[in-house]
Amino acid sequence: MSFINRTARAFFLVELLQGMACTLKYFFFRPAVTINYPFEKGPLSPRFRGEHALRRYPNGEERCISCKLCEAICPALAITIEGEVREDGSRRARRYDIDMTKCIYCGFCQEACPVDAIVEGPNFEYATETRAELMYNKAKLLANGERWETELAARIEADAPYR
Ligand code: SF4
Ligand code: SF4
Repeated sequence: MSFINRTARAFFLVELLQGMACTLKYFFFRPAVTINYPFEKGPLSPRFRGEHALRRYPNGEERCISCKLCEAICPALAITIEGEVREDGSRRARRYDIDMTKCIYCGFCQEACPVDAIVEGPNFEYATETRAELMYNKAKLLANGERWETELAARIEADAPYR
């Protein structure tokens, strides 16, 4: 570009006006690329790994058989389980804790579980005001499972052909 040409462009603020035109074009004539969160939410993959939940069978029985595979595979050592044998001989978790401040959301616990008991659900809105609230116990995890069961079952079904 010649010296005169460059000087003329600088004098008439050509690049500034081109930038403003581009801004106005996107402002008035292009669809918005952002969403009005939290009133609108974007789509989530069935494999999205959000807040953990413990699931029950349709008859209300807990799925977890306290095999401790999830505890063993957790690379963050975030899971603590204590099992017990019930009077009917079945094995269940007496204690099931997850330290959510340690969890790295790798999904290994879900992958390791033979009965689809521990899962990472679609919920990503569980920020807390205190650290203590992120120490999840069995009651909290089962409550999450009851709250999200419809979505959790749908996600597992949608992902099943790829497993
Ligand atoms: S998602 Fe990974 S880090 Fe978190 S509890 Fe499960 S295995 Fe541990
Ligand atoms: S959640 Fe699954 S992997 Fe973990 S102890 Fe229970 S049955 Fe075993």
